[in-house]
Amino acid sequence: MIMPGKLWRLCLLLALTVGVTLAQKKLRELKPGFNLFSVEQDVQMGREYAQQIEKEVQVVNDPTLVRFVEGIGRRLASAREAQGFQYSFKVVNEKSINAFALPGGPTYTHTGLILAADNEGQVAGVLAHEISHVILRHGTNQASKAQLIQLPAMLGAEMLGARGGITGMLAQLGIGLGANSVLLKFSRSAERDADLLGTRIMSSAGYNPIEMARFFEKLEAESGKSSRLGEFLASHPNPGNRVKAVQDEIQLLPRRDYTAGTGDISSVKQVAQRLPDPPKKPAQQQQAGANAPQGTGNPQNYAAGRPSNRLKEFQGGEVVFGYPDNWEVFPNEQTRQLTIASRSGMVGQAIGYGMIVNIIQSSAGLDRDTQTLVQQFQQGDPNIRVSSQSRRFRLGNSDALATRLQGPSPFQGVNEELVLITAQRPRGMFFLLLIAPDRDMNTAQPVFDQIIQSIRFSN
Ligand SMILES: [Zn+2]
Repeated sequence: MIMPGKLWRLCLLLALTVGVTLAQKKLRELKPGFNLFSVEQDVQMGREYAQQIEKEVQVVNDPTLVRFVEGIGRRLASAREAQGFQYSFKVVNEKSINAFALPGGPTYTHTGLILAADNEGQVAGVLAHEISHVILRHGTNQASKAQLIQLPAMLGAEMLGARGGITGMLAQLGIGLGANSVLLKFSRSAERDADLLGTRIMSSAGYNPIEMARFFEKLEAESGKSSRLGEFLASHPNPGNRVKAVQDEIQLLPRRDYTAGTGDISSVKQVAQRLPDPPKKPAQQQQAGANAPQGTGNPQNYAAGRPSNRLKEFQGGEVVFGYPDNWEVFPNEQTRQLTIASRSGMVGQAIGYGMIVNIIQSSAGLDRDTQTLVQQFQQGDPNIRVSSQSRRFRLGNSDALATRLQGPSPFQGVNEELVLITAQRPRGMFFLLLIAPDRDMNTAQPVFDQIIQSIRFSN
């Protein structure tokens, strides 16, 4: 049986590719990657999230701390490389060692981070790194890649004035600012780029960029000892050799004396140390898993999950397809995929009658990637087996494979048939998995055929 909640980890395996870095003599061009959001939407989203955050944390008004962090921020924001966004630099009364930037420019520095820094340059380093994530739009880039199917349609709706703002729309996709948010937890390659751009910004602003790398490495070294560091290091994973990478980058930049941020900051740290603890926070909302669909299917009776033979159209950015009009669409951030079924076609979280759709990153070609995907299904349930060889066909202008699988159904006493359609697309491998009890295939197959025939790719 297929538990959509277990699939996403497996799909991530496919996403791992081996990067090869060649020695470079010139400054590498750094620019934002693929993004379904507009810059204005980054800004709007940051504004909305900032309002939410500032209801939950205690923003510090102490003039010494405000002047210190805003002063650093102003200096960095004036760098040529930092143009294009209106940043804000606020201090949060929190002893954990953390800082973060929202899309579009609002940044928050915990007092714990100021206390952990040896000098102003290190605080500047973290902030330069954070605004580099803003400039390179890493948060919405990651959200775009995670939501290739659902997002374009929803962003269209947002443009037409959906209520609840852009963050309300993202919440429907399971995207928020909770732990492991796709908007704030960065990949190693995003980290490397934020280090490089942060280096350039610091240098332009007169700070010695090496302080950024030193501070990251210092925190890394202390991570075993301090529980106050977990979130920051998890959100900014070490891309490796940070100090060396920054040193190499400095070599490529115009030579200059780093005159900023060399003064003593012990008086600032004393103020941060003396701040009374903030009032206890209300319980944090759990975001993860909030969207996992729960079925109400009766394990003794699969008939209630049957698909209607009237199709409704699902419009994504990459793909349009039909699905039975008595089934519901359940998008999920963690699985990065759509589960489409009626609740009575699902027993708990297992799909007995339904379909799963996603686009996943591919690396080895359609045949190999399809095999890998099947193996991942089998890791989820070792009883799943391939019942007939993959058949090759054309789906629009894409190469596609149809593969039949069998396995135990979550409905008692029956097996299930699974029809897997995979197609090579420019941005990854599209897959559609159709699931039905085997003894109901006479009813299901004609509908499944209609669904497969309805698939259209946008280009
Ligand atoms: Zn980072």
